[in-house]
Amino acid sequence: MAFSPDEVDRYARQLVLSEIGGPGQQKLARARVLIVGAGGVGGPAALYLAAAGVGTLGLIDADTVAVSNLQRQILFSTADVDRPKVEAGAERLTALNPHVRVETHAEPLTADNAAALIAGHDVVLDGTDDFHTRFAVNAACVAAGVPLVSGALGRWSGQVGVFAGRPCYQCLVPESPPDAETCARVGVVGALAGVIGAMAALETIKLITGAGAPLTGRLLLYDGLAATARTVRVAADPQCPACRGVSGES
Ligand SMILES: [Zn+2]
Repeated sequence: MAFSPDEVDRYARQLVLSEIGGPGQQKLARARVLIVGAGGVGGPAALYLAAAGVGTLGLIDADTVAVSNLQRQILFSTADVDRPKVEAGAERLTALNPHVRVETHAEPLTADNAAALIAGHDVVLDGTDDFHTRFAVNAACVAAGVPLVSGALGRWSGQVGVFAGRPCYQCLVPESPPDAETCARVGVVGALAGVIGAMAALETIKLITGAGAPLTGRLLLYDGLAATARTVRVAADPQCPACRGVSGES
């Protein structure tokens, strides 16, 4: 695949990086990334992945844009209020980079449709905030052998993890916490969503290009109030219903 003059110009700052260069840019152009949840994490991730030249971005979100989203969901503008998020998001991403193809799914991801939605993608990026969806995404990724980049946040802190086979996301979170906190209830600083979304996009770019050491089997915890970060290894759960019997990092 030859790049047009516009693409050579557009990706100039990546093409000079030894870890990406022409071959890495080709990998990005051929890549198909599925973003589950076009919200606080998925939105900034989608913007950076589109800007980087990921060839195909799938966007899954059943919601419409609300005014209260705009404090952190920078994929949308005030004029997008009441529009389907995937429609407004696709328009914004294509305006940012017309070389990117955006496939929209204005439906919730469930255990029933997860396998079909994930099929054919190289990486899945999950930025949703409910555990039923997260477990369904994780199980389908494990079954399909597709790496999962997971981002989550609340209040002033967030986390990013990459899961490829075993250990999986459900090894980290065995079941839905009884007092699961949502951003609607506990609040979140918008800039933190940007930090976590950008980190998730960066891990996705690393997975596609093979640059550096991805967070596979590890979890990066960022404390925005203290301005500290630490990375912990995720242990495989011998009883994990999602990845028991699957090979992986450990
Ligand atoms: Zn597991």
